[in-house]
Amino acid sequence: MKDHINKYLTPNRIEFAVTYLCNSKCKHCYSIKNNETFPEHIDESLAVETVRKVGEQYSPESIMTFGGEPLLFPEIVAAIHKEAMDVGIPSREIITNGYWSKDAKKVKEIAKNLKESGVNEIIVSVDTFHQEQILLDNVRKTIESCLQEGFQNILLNPCWVVSEENDNQYNQKTKSILQKLEDLPVRKSEGNIMEPSGLALINLKEFLPPKEKLPAGKCGDMPYTDPLDSVKGICIEPDGKVAVCNDFYIGNAFETDIISLIENYNPFKIPVMKEIIENGMEGLLNWAKAKGVKPDPEGYYSICQMCIDIRRKVNKILK
Ligand code: SF4
Repeated sequence: MKDHINKYLTPNRIEFAVTYLCNSKCKHCYSIKNNETFPEHIDESLAVETVRKVGEQYSPESIMTFGGEPLLFPEIVAAIHKEAMDVGIPSREIITNGYWSKDAKKVKEIAKNLKESGVNEIIVSVDTFHQEQILLDNVRKTIESCLQEGFQNILLNPCWVVSEENDNQYNQKTKSILQKLEDLPVRKSEGNIMEPSGLALINLKEFLPPKEKLPAGKCGDMPYTDPLDSVKGICIEPDGKVAVCNDFYIGNAFETDIISLIENYNPFKIPVMKEIIENGMEGLLNWAKAKGVKPDPEGYYSICQMCIDIRRKVNKILK
């Protein structure tokens, strides 16, 4: 265990984007990827094998399944977590919108199966955006079924607009939704702040910060990111691609053994990563300029939005 250390990448956490399909269409959703470019769901055997190999080799602390809505494929989610439990990964989380089925019996079955598969934290997205689409009563029934199965770690995870304190109509609605669940023995997380990506860019523009030509910040400061030379987690996409950051792939676990992908990761050998590490966003812009790609003249909301946009434009040219 942990005998192959890569100083640039230590997978303490594995995340699986089980699917990008969803049974909701929330106004702020930033998981909206180009769904048509991904298979409907991750391959179960590949996912299980990945958990086993990474689990045995690196003893990660946590695993998470998300989407889209991962519980559109409850068997795959259960198989991933079962393997994680067997291989000794201590923290095994699911993020869900809580709408698992119209049929209460089916919801109970799923909850039972997840419990038996070793899931030990269920994070339920509850806020105005989700509840514009999903009846709160369905979410309540899912939570109640999970409680009946003995889940002790259920977390309500709201998405705040601007900040929890900001007094706007969305946050007011979210607060009143959370109040309606106050009788349940579950915790409320800090939640997250609506990000400038996905549908939020279209539907909620007025709540985003002003765009800047060269947004401030560096990798690792942004939510869910690490510096590229000190990556602590990997994310597996539904098609097997392995990401070390937002849309930043180091290969495909279908084509290359996951352990060798991790062991061979060296961001200094990938020109764009080297530029970002050494020169930040200026480096990214210079790298793009050399390829004939200019940044959006309107600017960007964040460094990650800029980074993703520029890399996509360069990839298009190189294709
Ligand atoms: S700027 Fe790019 S590399 Fe850095 S954290 Fe954001 S997406 Fe990742």
